Amino acid sequence: MTNDKKPVLEKIAIIGAGLGGLATAIALRNLGYNVQVYEKAQEFRPAGTGLGLAPNGLNFLDAIAPGIVETLTISGCPVHNSVFKSNTGETIRANQSTYLEKYGRPLLTVWWWRLQQTLASRLPSDIIHLNHRCIGFEQNENGVEVYFDGGKTIYADLLIGSDGVNSTIRETLVGDGKPNYLGSMCWRSVLQYQHELFDSYDLVFIKGNKQFMYLLNVGEGYTSWISRKSTPDYSLSQTADKVKSRILNDLAGWDESFRVVVEMTPAEQIWEGLICDRPPLNHWSEGRVVLLGDAAHPMAPSIGQGANSTFEDAYELQACFSQSSSLAQALTSYEKRRIERTQVIQARSALGEIRYYESDSGPSARQMQANNDDFQNWLYNYKPSAIGLS
Ligand SMILES: Cc1cc2nc3c(=O)[nH]c(=O)nc-3n(C[C@H](O)[C@H](O)[C@H](O)COP(=O)(O)OP(=O)(O)OC[C@H]3O[C@@H](n4cnc5c(N)ncnc54)[C@H](O)[C@@H]3O)c2cc1C
Repeated sequence: MTNDKKPVLEKIAIIGAGLGGLATAIALRNLGYNVQVYEKAQEFRPAGTGLGLAPNGLNFLDAIAPGIVETLTISGCPVHNSVFKSNTGETIRANQSTYLEKYGRPLLTVWWWRLQQTLASRLPSDIIHLNHRCIGFEQNENGVEVYFDGGKTIYADLLIGSDGVNSTIRETLVGDGKPNYLGSMCWRSVLQYQHELFDSYDLVFIKGNKQFMYLLNVGEGYTSWISRKSTPDYSLSQTADKVKSRILNDLAGWDESFRVVVEMTPAEQIWEGLICDRPPLNHWSEGRVVLLGDAAHPMAPSIGQGANSTFEDAYELQACFSQSSSLAQALTSYEKRRIERTQVIQARSALGEIRYYESDSGPSARQMQANNDDFQNWLYNYKPSAIGLS
């Protein structure tokens, strides 16, 4: 169905060139809108670690940017076999992935940075404005005035806040303060190294005492490692060297084949952070401003849905614009289509985060593939409805 009466908007401003901002820029350009993306980083730098793109996320990514999943499948790694190990190296359980046969798509592990670059390559480079830190906005019925560090101001008909868990746009719109610390810290990086276990497995889960680690094959000879620890102490280390010695100290006694990935990683390339979320919101928009991705529904990473649910948002926003004749109608239907689903995913993610540390049998059978069959079917079988492009 083609909608010739989509809302008339001369300019759409997106804050944040993370996965959500870039995917949304592609999605709204599909409808012919003039979209400009503003990012606080001064340059795109290799960052992040491995991400699991699940069938639902892949369905929506492919609907936004046809062919992109094929590109990512070549650079990333479809997970065929995974293994659950103790921190001393014993195999507890090995699994063959059933994602493809159950949901029609594999679990695909990719490097966050490669995914960001792949999305950016689908956009003209002159619509991405780096070194633009948004510090706030004001709106009236005619438009939005957006303010940046350094004094620059721009005007837009619609402002999309996809500026992550510490969103400035959300703070201005909702003002709900700092995120909730969920009781665990995270260390992660990616390095050019083919872990020996990747000869047999694409994804390795290792469990220690109140601490665990993932090793992900993210393709092209790169290994991503992610370690998490349950701790009431959430102080961040003062220097990169202290970050590295802290995580190595935590992994004392672990098998050398697991510690080696941390030992080989340059200290300044290790990211240390807190696992946080925020309470769900009942509204994501007000007037000409709307939230998307982590800014709207930040969630614990336990079931790996942060990026996947964000790709759903981006496509649904495109669908709502293509099927509405006014901005208000488009944003109302976007909220209707997204809020309830993401609230369920947020709640399951928070629960999964607590359960990770609960039992010795480990989460590999449960959290590694979300929780139960009904939930997984609901989560992964989610597909975009067809929309006409005008
Ligand atoms: C550098 C980086 C690495 C990440 N690595 C991983 C990872 O390895 N594994 C994982 O599961 N998730 C990772 N994430 C989070 C993951 O991308 C998100 O959970 C998910 O994709 C939702 O995306 P988002 O676009 O809503 O938020 P994000 O991906 O967090 O993107 C937000 C973007 O907004 C920018 N921004 C923030 N504030 C402002 C501002 N005031 N003005 C302008 N720009 C602003 C940020 O620099 C960032 O580029 C990472 C995020 C970032 C920013």
